[in-house]
Amino acid sequence: MQHEINICVVGGGFTGAAAAIACLRHIERPFRLVIIEPTGSLGRGIAYGSHDPMHLLNVRARDLSVCADRPGDFSTWAFRHLDQGEDDVGLLEGVNHAFFSRQLFGEYVRQRLNETIARRPDVQFDIVAASAVACSRKGTGFRIRTDRAGTVEADVVVVATGYGASTASGQESLPPFGFVSTDQFAGARSMVLIGSGLTMVDVLLNARREGFAGEATILSRRGQIPREHAAKASCRRRWRSPRRRALPGSRPRYASRARPQRLMGRLAGRDQWTAADDFGHLAGS
Ligand SMILES: Cc1cc2nc3c(=O)[nH]c(=O)nc-3n(C[C@H](O)[C@H](O)[C@H](O)COP(=O)(O)OP(=O)(O)OC[C@H]3O[C@@H](n4cnc5c(N)ncnc54)[C@H](O)[C@@H]3O)c2cc1C
Repeated sequence: MQHEINICVVGGGFTGAAAAIACLRHIERPFRLVIIEPTGSLGRGIAYGSHDPMHLLNVRARDLSVCADRPGDFSTWAFRHLDQGEDDVGLLEGVNHAFFSRQLFGEYVRQRLNETIARRPDVQFDIVAASAVACSRKGTGFRIRTDRAGTVEADVVVVATGYGASTASGQESLPPFGFVSTDQFAGARSMVLIGSGLTMVDVLLNARREGFAGEATILSRRGQIPREHAAKASCRRRWRSPRRRALPGSRPRYASRARPQRLMGRLAGRDQWTAADDFGHLAGS
């Protein structure tokens, strides 16, 4: 069947899934929807494709949703999976304030996308497991060339490739978010972490779990680390720009050094960050 509109979403991570859901919910006529995603796995991307249950979200469940007009939808989804039909208010409160694993959030996005697709039998939906390599004009629309699945023609193209393909910058370097083996961690006496955001925290905690006992040097343009969350969210829902705090004992503008135990112990001592308990256990402090 020839559809009036052909929409192609390039990239099936969070943004691609959210765009697809928005199209499926708001375009009332039948149309064709194609998602080009090389992994074939939808709704995950780099952030939510992690299989490590210790890789936590940095946002509370109640503040996450794949639909802009349904705030708190992740919380609703998680609650429906956990509640035994009792509508337990205490459980809902706990779910609202929790920082779940990123893997679970990816599962939520994937399920919401599948549910939305199932509600639109009039939409022809296809997944193309390939990477888009070029996009050119064709008449009033576009032609997207892929590396292993030919071309896709569309009237509308949504580019949702996020961070793009993760590649190493040199022969000796790992790709960003690349895998470091347990042996490498256990045998290392020192490590340098470039960047001091949440991925630094994940990597450092992971290294500790894998037996790393050496010195960690964290390179940060501003000498800051992520600011801790309060133990419980306030009732205010107003969005505030994220603030960051200086690395303990450091001055902004200078590289900061701290032994992992000390850094993690200090953070754990604050008892407020999302993974403060994890820090405590892993650092052995
Ligand atoms: C490690 C990490 C942790 C994060 N944690 C959080 C968090 O806790 N909370 C939060 O709000 N945000 C977090 N973020 C930010 C998060 O990435 C964004 O919220 C969101 O997931 C970005 O989604 P995206 O779809 O734009 O990009 P991505 O997730 O990068 O998805 C892009 C997708 O496009 C595909 N793709 C790439 N190139 C091509 C191509 N040429 N052709 C076809 N497909 C292609 C990729 O395979 C991928 O699936 C985190 C980010 C990272 C890296």
